[in-house]
Amino acid sequence: MTQSKPLPTPTPETQPYWDSCKSHAMKLPRCKSCSQFHFYPRALCPHCWSMDLEWVTASGKGKIYSYVISHRPAPGFQDDVPYIIGVVELDEGVRLMTNIVGVIPEPKNIWVGMDVSVEYEDVSETITLPTYKPI
Ligand SMILES: [Zn+2]
Repeated sequence: MTQSKPLPTPTPETQPYWDSCKSHAMKLPRCKSCSQFHFYPRALCPHCWSMDLEWVTASGKGKIYSYVISHRPAPGFQDDVPYIIGVVELDEGVRLMTNIVGVIPEPKNIWVGMDVSVEYEDVSETITLPTYKPI
């Protein structure tokens, strides 16, 4: 039996993020007091504790901060191996864990500092996952 992939469960704090991904125009939370972005979304700015936050459309661009090529699948990912799990530092300064797509998953094809741009994968009626592709 094939196990399905786990999906995120939006919370009141993360729902705007998931809604923006669903519309293929990712938004990130930014603090109106100190002007810094943060990720993951939460009720308070982690830099200055202000609750005065806004949602800003992200550039969709970033650089690979770290990555691993997985050859041993987590439950639900058995049909995807090998695949790339990456941490991307977005131009807005925040980092998020994602999949790197659109490239053969071999070390010669991927490097730290590589420029990437967002792609969107509609995985259910309500969830769209951002992935990143080399540019
Ligand atoms: Zn702040």
